[in-house]
Amino acid sequence: MIVVLKEGAKEEDIEKVKKKVEELGYQPHLLRGVLRTVINCIGDERGKEDNKILEAIEPVEKVLMVLEPYKLASRTTNPEGTRVQIGKDVIIGGEKIVVIAGPCSVESKEQILEIAEKVKEAGARALRGGAFKPRTAPYSFQGLGKKGLEMLAEAGKKTGLPVVTEVMSPEDVKTVADYADVLQVGARNVQNFPLLKKLGKINKPVLLKRGLMTTIEEFLLAAEYILSEGNPNVILCERGIRTFETATRNTLDISAIPVLKKKTHLPVIVDPSHATGYWEYVPSMCYAAIAAGADGLLVEVHSNPEEALSDGTQSLKPEKFKIMMENLSKFVRATGRKL
Ligand code: PEP
Ligand code: MN
Repeated sequence: MIVVLKEGAKEEDIEKVKKKVEELGYQPHLLRGVLRTVINCIGDERGKEDNKILEAIEPVEKVLMVLEPYKLASRTTNPEGTRVQIGKDVIIGGEKIVVIAGPCSVESKEQILEIAEKVKEAGARALRGGAFKPRTAPYSFQGLGKKGLEMLAEAGKKTGLPVVTEVMSPEDVKTVADYADVLQVGARNVQNFPLLKKLGKINKPVLLKRGLMTTIEEFLLAAEYILSEGNPNVILCERGIRTFETATRNTLDISAIPVLKKKTHLPVIVDPSHATGYWEYVPSMCYAAIAAGADGLLVEVHSNPEEALSDGTQSLKPEKFKIMMENLSKFVRATGRKL
């Protein structure tokens, strides 16, 4: 059962409802959104009419009986859709499509700054760059760690772009949150529950990637772990799933976009770089993602892909990224949105 409180409900009123929820035998989990607070009531609600009792309390707007196992992520909880603010003024899930771009890994101060300037010029609204890298082989470049975070934050500051970077373990959450505007959970960690729980307790947005073998329900339940700990700012990212096809690195599940849009109020972005694994397929998948209703894109860009320390084959050169952005604007317009 989800109790939705009226916009601008006062703290003492929220407390009053929370107490009543406890009295009725439920465990209340509060989620404070930008406009409203909702209380997720965990407990057995079968055969009772507790929803009516709660609905009668003054600051309660409505009580929702959510049938899905993901209660807070369910579209029922917020039919108009959630907008997640990243940095000072970038909104994901609003009218504007947000493109996040940058290299797979931060490699040096000069590298990240040069790419940041170029992607900004082409119209990207946020900068990505990995410092803690989840590499398949232990001998591959593992990222620059804290030094990489510092370089990324500096490039972000210089260009005014909010920065997105991955966090792999619960112990690193605090450090990464000190530098990043958005913390990314990579595909391989989508069901790292201790990490998700920790991210539920911070006040920065989380970009949650779908795993290689994650069903949509499992994906939404992973998001629920973050929401249920109190962090309402979750952005979902479809980045391709593993199928029998080997011509591309993964298979971009385009249909996941409308399915997610129906099932959840959380914003959905698409990463065509990791989905396809080859830069030449990236632009067409960017256009397809926007046509399918995505709220944004996450694209890998590198000035010198041949020498990139990770994911060079799927990275667009800045010139190619610029052309993609120019073409993208037509698709964005066709969907009635803005870039
Ligand atoms: C990345 O964004 O660089 C990354 C490792 O992505 P994924 O977790 O989707 O493989
Ligand atoms: Mn990568």
